Amino acid sequence: MQIKELQEEILKLKREKDICILAHSYQAREITEIADFTGDSFGLSVAAARAPQKTVIMCGVRFMAETVKILSPEKKVYLANPLAGCQMADQMDKQLIEQVKERYPDYTVVCYINTTSELKTVCDVCVTSSSAVKIIGKLPNKNILFIPDKQLGAYVAKMLPDKNIKLLQGGCPTHLRVGMREVRKAKTLHPEALLLVHPECRPEVTESADFVGSTTAIMDYAKKSCAREFIIGTELSILNHLQYECAEKDFYPLSIDLVCHNMKVTTLADVYNCVKGTGGEVIELDEETRLKAKICIDRMIELG
Ligand code: SF4
Repeated sequence: MQIKELQEEILKLKREKDICILAHSYQAREITEIADFTGDSFGLSVAAARAPQKTVIMCGVRFMAETVKILSPEKKVYLANPLAGCQMADQMDKQLIEQVKERYPDYTVVCYINTTSELKTVCDVCVTSSSAVKIIGKLPNKNILFIPDKQLGAYVAKMLPDKNIKLLQGGCPTHLRVGMREVRKAKTLHPEALLLVHPECRPEVTESADFVGSTTAIMDYAKKSCAREFIIGTELSILNHLQYECAEKDFYPLSIDLVCHNMKVTTLADVYNCVKGTGGEVIELDEETRLKAKICIDRMIELG
């Protein structure tokens, strides 16, 4: 089957079965084209909660499907490809953080949304890359334990010098692939281009950037900017989407290695099999875990 035919089949089945398809912005173009909603993980989980459909398919990674389930327990939530994990979300577990909390009892534990639902159960508040500075700035406690991304945590610490932010050794292997060598090379090749990067990048990379923001913020910035050339320092799909949406502007990768293999494991054929009922994995969370994990998401909504 050709891509177009497969897309039409998916759209037909999705209408017949009343299914909502979510696609993270790091998914391939042929998947975002057939999705009801495309965006970042938290935005997608809110969109799914508001959608009328009772069945939701997440084309993204496992923690994203879990976040959808936390906010929409009454819905049947599928992860389109069960192999789609997130190396950063899996770097720390509940037992490790419980031990760290014993050593630092007077710290507020803040977790990035890129964490498992189990890990969220032992955290006080959750943040996204776009809300981290705002939410941590509002917390009354000066002492913050930020997990798991050391790079995002370092960026927040720089923006909020009055806070005492403790970090552990975690991070996104995709964004950690780029350093100053890639920045110098891209800037030499494209001296007029603005450098837009994700806060999951190394501190020296974010310090060299013209703009630091979430994937949604990077896309908005590039679309609204009067500049015509941009070096994109996040997953390569964002560059592809921007090229389609702003054909008159030029986008260059900070590195061609900025590919998240976890995100790319999901194919259009996986989405087809999932809609057809022969693929995907139904996400199940026990109610105690779901309710405890929801507390730190609710706190994020309240503060954000
Ligand atoms: S880009 Fe990094 S944080 Fe995002 S899903 Fe891939 S490994 Fe996880």
